[in-house]
Amino acid sequence: MAVLAGKAAVVTGGSRGIGRAIVLRLARDGAQVVFNYARSRDAADEVVRQAEKEGGNVTAVQLDLAEPGAAEELMAAAERRLGGLDILVNNAATNIDVRPLAETTEAEFDRVMAVNAKSVFLTVRHAARHMRDGGRIVNISTLNTVRPAPGNAPYVASKGALEQLTLVASRELGPRGITVNAVSPGATDTDLLRAANTPEGLARAVAVTPLGRLGRPEDVADVVAFLAGPDGRWLTGQIVRANGGII
Ligand code: NAP
Repeated sequence: MAVLAGKAAVVTGGSRGIGRAIVLRLARDGAQVVFNYARSRDAADEVVRQAEKEGGNVTAVQLDLAEPGAAEELMAAAERRLGGLDILVNNAATNIDVRPLAETTEAEFDRVMAVNAKSVFLTVRHAARHMRDGGRIVNISTLNTVRPAPGNAPYVASKGALEQLTLVASRELGPRGITVNAVSPGATDTDLLRAANTPEGLARAVAVTPLGRLGRPEDVADVVAFLAGPDGRWLTGQIVRANGGII
């Protein structure tokens, strides 16, 4: 059933991993989707082709969210393409190699905050101004905000900011029927996870997961689709922990 038919959606970072699964799921549910990517043009083209094969309507835009003006440009491009906004999913994130705070540079902190936190502020601000009443905002966080991993200071700080933005926005936009939630995945099998973990680290993640495996991008996308759809209407200001029971 196309529960999102007629809805206009923007997803950040839709070329790979969890974002790719979210784009395909929202398109399958009937939404028209615009997503951005930073570098992976081939992967982005493949997502568009896959969506088309499934009867979806998806457009990819190359914009690096670390660049000044990129978040606003994404929202403007989406507005031109979609003619309105009903669903915003802030999924794109970047990280640096794991290293102690003492060895982390200011430039690294600034880049991670620009992509993972500032772009969320800018797209949510755009939504506060332009989203249709009854809309949905879903920001992707991480279990690291309650289980902070050493060596990940900028990433964890950026996701703390994302969660607080989510809570404030839920209170400001509630009167217009717009829900604002965060989905907080656990270890999910994507490039980001594999770049940051050894095989032993991945095995440890599985060992502490009551459901006994790594998450799959679709596990998270299905939760996002619930929050973005009509059945999510009474949930707002929540951090939904889609992590197989780790927390
Ligand atoms: P991923 O596989 O690394 O994919 C990241 C996506 O974000 C890609 O589409 C990438 O585009 C895009 N992106 C990265 N930097 C960007 C930038 N500067 N500008 C624009 N787009 C950019 O990551 P993932 O594992 O799917 O993570 C998705 C979300 O889940 C993130 O918010 C992450 O923090 C969160 N999360 C993941 C896990 C996990 O275990 N995987 C756990 C907890 C939370 P390109 O393809 O062009 O690089």
